Amino acid sequence: MDFPLIDLMDAHACYERLVALLHPDGLACPRCGAADRLGIHRRHRDPVIDYQCGHCRRVFNAFTGTPLQGIRRPPAQLLLILRGIADAAPAAQMARELGCDRKHLLELRHRLQGNALLRMDRNPLGDAVVEADEAYVNAGEKRDPAPRPGRPAAAAGQSPPRPRNLRQRPAASGRHRRQGVG
Ligand SMILES: [Zn+2]
Repeated sequence: MDFPLIDLMDAHACYERLVALLHPDGLACPRCGAADRLGIHRRHRDPVIDYQCGHCRRVFNAFTGTPLQGIRRPPAQLLLILRGIADAAPAAQMARELGCDRKHLLELRHRLQGNALLRMDRNPLGDAVVEADEAYVNAGEKRDPAPRPGRPAAAAGQSPPRPRNLRQRPAASGRHRRQGVG
């Protein structure tokens, strides 16, 4: 597991990455599917936000109805768990490193078997991940959705030396941030 450590320390960045992975088309109400009029219900688990649908009044969060529902772990740990499962790390080792129950990890691994979430995370070129990031940014900002020229070589589809894609993300999000400001 070689995440950039600084990324893992930013709970908000980890949460946003999870939301982008879980909802590549943007967050929507799990009951009626509406993507608009999602009000903030409460923030008792910062950075995780509970939303309430303005159409059907359903209260939910980004994990509702996903394989990560009910796993009350900080977003950074959820990302580590996903990465560990995608890498087929031994559950006993993950349980030791993350200080969580091996049985729960095995259950989660079972739940995630064949899930698109892991396929996306394992994409050796990282394109799906970059696209998910961009979908999230586009959904969140609703501006400049056109593909941009001059993306970094690694994100443009040239094979990176290793099948780790998370390394590319700080550059990608930096690019978004830079262009978002300018
Ligand atoms: Zn609804």
